[in-house]
Amino acid sequence: MTVIIDNLRTILSEIETAVMQKQGSASDLTTLIAVSKTKPVDDVLAAWQAGQKHFGENKVQEAKQKFLPLRERGLALTLHLIGPLQTNKAADAVGLFDVIHSLDRLKLAAVLQKEMQKQQRYPTLLVQVNIGREPQKAGVLPENVPAFVESCLEMGLPIKGLMCIPPVNADPEPHFSAVANLANKLNLPELSMGMSKDYKLAIQYHATYVRVGTALFGGRELLIGKG
Ligand SMILES: *Cc1c(COP(=O)(O)O)cnc(C)c1O
Repeated sequence: MTVIIDNLRTILSEIETAVMQKQGSASDLTTLIAVSKTKPVDDVLAAWQAGQKHFGENKVQEAKQKFLPLRERGLALTLHLIGPLQTNKAADAVGLFDVIHSLDRLKLAAVLQKEMQKQQRYPTLLVQVNIGREPQKAGVLPENVPAFVESCLEMGLPIKGLMCIPPVNADPEPHFSAVANLANKLNLPELSMGMSKDYKLAIQYHATYVRVGTALFGGRELLIGKG
């Protein structure tokens, strides 16, 4: 547990340094999302007690199991969905998450809108961009993002920014740059990009959320077949 607290301090101080070093609109802040997927609730609690309040999970069910009991205990925290969302989990997602980073298709947008009205709960939405044009990856292709965002805004959805996961083993810099330009063009304030290996670079491109798992909680075992 003290390892997590040490890691948290290191990451926060590196974020602070990166924010100070970046060019231009230096005032926008970067929020650390502690990605706790596959990690036990004790790890979450250790980080929470050390002051970390934003957490990210990539599966609705796992997030529910881990975080509902904490919410019921009255722990104040902000919960982010960073993984793909199936329409049949949209109701649960609207009920649980404060920010959904993975809006990527109109069918999901329609279901989210219906659920938000029904539950009178309006999580912030980010549009996931498939910036590397990878067939196996979720996200809207960059050239389709402006029309997609416009359609969602017309539906009254609270779209606040863009999210991306650059291809693994590729230089993330041109991808961060491209997504930042796109968000800027569309006047969207939030940018969710950067993970353990590249969050400092993402901050140079004005990431407002960085999603860090491994550097904070340690490596994850491959959980084959566990949904
Ligand atoms: C797991 C995950 C992360 C965190 O990755 P690390 O390399 O462990 O920091 C960030 N974003 C998404 C979408 C993830 O699924």
